[in-house]
Formats: sequence, C-alpha cells, structure tokens
Amino acid sequence: MFHVSQHKTRGVHSLHAVIENPQWHEQFCRFDLVAKTDERARTIVRLEGLAIGGDSFVVMAGPCAVESERQLMQTAEAVAAAGARVLRGGAYKARTSPYAFQGLGVKGLKLLAKARERTGLAIITEVLCPEDVDCVAEYADIMQVGTRSMENYSLLAALGKCGRPVLLKRGMTARLDELMCSAQAIAANGNPDIILCERGIRTFETATRNTLDIAAVPVLKSVSHLPVIVDPSHAAGVRSIVPMLARAAAVIGADGLLVEVHPDPEKALSDGAQSLDLDEFREMMKDLRRYVSVTSDGDRAGSKAFIAEGVR
Ligand code: PEP
Ligand code: MN
Repeated sequence: MFHVSQHKTRGVHSLHAVIENPQWHEQFCRFDLVAKTDERARTIVRLEGLAIGGDSFVVMAGPCAVESERQLMQTAEAVAAAGARVLRGGAYKARTSPYAFQGLGVKGLKLLAKARERTGLAIITEVLCPEDVDCVAEYADIMQVGTRSMENYSLLAALGKCGRPVLLKRGMTARLDELMCSAQAIAANGNPDIILCERGIRTFETATRNTLDIAAVPVLKSVSHLPVIVDPSHAAGVRSIVPMLARAAAVIGADGLLVEVHPDPEKALSDGAQSLDLDEFREMMKDLRRYVSVTSDGDRAGSKAFIAEGVR
C-alpha cells in the first residue's frame, strides 16, 4: 500500500473542494499532486492533435481485445469515421478465468500501431504488470490501468516513469479516495499526465455487470484537477443501455468516454454482450452531440465541443 505521508507534501491549504463539502477536504487533501487547489490549473493531457480534459469531449472506442487484423482495422476505420479520436484494444487481457482468451500480446500491439498509421487515431491499451511497461509504451499513446490493477503499486510506480499518459480505472471495490491515492502514486513517481476513469463498481445489484457511480464524475471534478472519463461498457455489461449511460456521462460533465465496439459482437472473444456493433456506435455518436453541447462545468465559460467531425 502506498502511503502519501511518506512523500513530501506541500500542505494543501486551499483545496477547492472545501468550499463545496468540508468532508471532501478531509478525504482528499492528502493527495496534493492530484487534488484540485486554487493554485493548480486543470490538467489537460495532450497528445498529438488531441487534448483530453480541455474543451473537447473525447471518445475512445474499439474492441475489448485485439483479436485479428481484420477485426481491428474494420473497427478502427468505423470508429474514426464516426468521430472517435482514440482507438482502444487490449493486447494483454486480465481475464477472470485462466482459460479465457488472454490477448495477442506483442502481435496485438503491432496491429494497434498499424491501425494508428492507417487511421490517425491515437492508441490506448492496457498494461498488466511492471515488466511489460516499456514494451507497451513503445506502441501505446495512452497506458490503461485496469480495474484489477488499480492497487498494483509496483505497476503504478513503473507508470510514473513511462513517459506516456496513463488512464487509471477505478478499482471495482475502490472508494474515490483510494482512486486518488493511486493517481498520487503515479504522479509522485514523476508522471503528471493522468486521466481518471469511472467504470462501475460492485454493489448488491446484479441486473447490470457493475453499478455506474455517475456521482463519481462531479465529485472527482471537484476534488481533482485531472480529466475524468466514463466507461459505460464495463458498467452496463449489456449493450442496450450503453448509449444511455454515455448520455449521462456527457451531461454530467465527463471529459470523454471509453467504449467497447466490435464488428460482430456475437463472435467477440471477450465482452461481446456489452460491445456495440459499428452501426450502434455511429448512432450513439450522433445522439451524443446534443447532450455534449449542454455540458458546462464551473471551470469553463463555454460548453464542450464535440470533436466528432465525422458525425453528421
Ligand atoms: C477493458 O477495458 O477491457 C477492461 C478489462 O476493463 P476493466 O479493467 O474496467 O474491467
Ligand atoms: Mn472489456
């Protein structure tokens, strides 16, 4: 377990959240590198031609797992045309069962790089262990930390030095202060480019795969200066409600989405039930335009622009 007190803290006296809720000050002020203060500007994670956490709502989309060249290229071209800016796809999969598809590894990373060349999309992919960080960082534009790895502190330390932005998913049983603690661990190791991701948590409810904690978005935006995105796919577990959860994320002020899309979800090797097909994704992107345009948060004068030029 990573203890913030072991690190040099700068004494956060003006944690922004104290104005909204004194309890949040207690809970979050220890994480001084990632907490929102009056002095600290919002973090905007910049990739070539793309800014996450600024005025744009950024959609990251693609298959749960990279399965084949054909599957990945078909998905990449379709999501790019529909307005996504980042291609997702797992090359290393953390599966609950040891007998399930574990991913294509380096071959998958090479396919992602090929898809980036072909479409201009940036690449996000998951890294499971510290030993793989250098290799994944050679190919990925954003390093994804999965829900099962949020508290893998040796992985977080390695990501602090990887030279790439990190998307940190909330652990499925983690509180928001624990998510912030993990973000602090990455930042304390030298990497300020962190994106937080709400992907649903375990509750007593079983009708959905996880319970999307939509309130996490405004809370995290209040207590942290980091961008916050939502993964509606792993929260839902079923594709029919993914577009509705995506709307909620847009309206509540998220900085973007991470969505699973597959050309033939019935045949997907993982997470097919929650993956949108290519038409459903295009429809969702069209639908989202009007919800994103009503979004504004206290920090921004205007509303977020939907950078989905492909969508009409
Ligand atoms: C994924 O994005 O495919 C994934 C494994 O997500 P999570 O870590 O949220 O389960
Ligand atoms: Mn998945």
